[in-house]
Amino acid sequence: MTTLYLGLALLLLAFILFWLSSRQRRGAGLPGGRVIYTDTRTWGAVEKPLYDRLLDLTGKPDYLVEQNVQVIPVEVKSGRTPDAPYDSHIFQLAAYCLLVEKTFGKRPPYGIIHYPGRDFAVDYTPQLEATLLDVLADMRRDEYRASVERSHEEAQRCVRCGFRGVCDQRVA
Ligand code: SF4
Repeated sequence: MTTLYLGLALLLLAFILFWLSSRQRRGAGLPGGRVIYTDTRTWGAVEKPLYDRLLDLTGKPDYLVEQNVQVIPVEVKSGRTPDAPYDSHIFQLAAYCLLVEKTFGKRPPYGIIHYPGRDFAVDYTPQLEATLLDVLADMRRDEYRASVERSHEEAQRCVRCGFRGVCDQRVA
């Protein structure tokens, strides 16, 4: 059963990343990240995926941090450390914030994205939550479409994309 949950979580995560890579940046604007120092000794591994039945959303943050009465999700990324978090990483973290709130009944004020070179705190604002819910609604709609058109002309995005090998719309 754990394997099934993990498989579902990875599948959903892959779909989110695929969907985001084929969509334009949302117009509502995303919060940037602020650089913070975090003590990795306080990070606790997550045993099983978090799940929200209402949204049919599942996901597994890499770690959870308990700070006072708050539970903060942490997502660990490898590769190059950007000057600011990538949009897809922000959305993924926002989904974890949402799942943390649904699971523990407490809204995390922010989540953490850990890159090799620095950590960013990304505020889980009502605006970010609303944008995330829009994204999820669009994803559900696109699930029933035979194909989803690429909506950008950025070769570099395709060069960095993990789905390049199977995508018939890549531009590089
Ligand atoms: S290869 Fe390019 S077009 Fe295809 S999913 Fe990735 S970013 Fe989008």
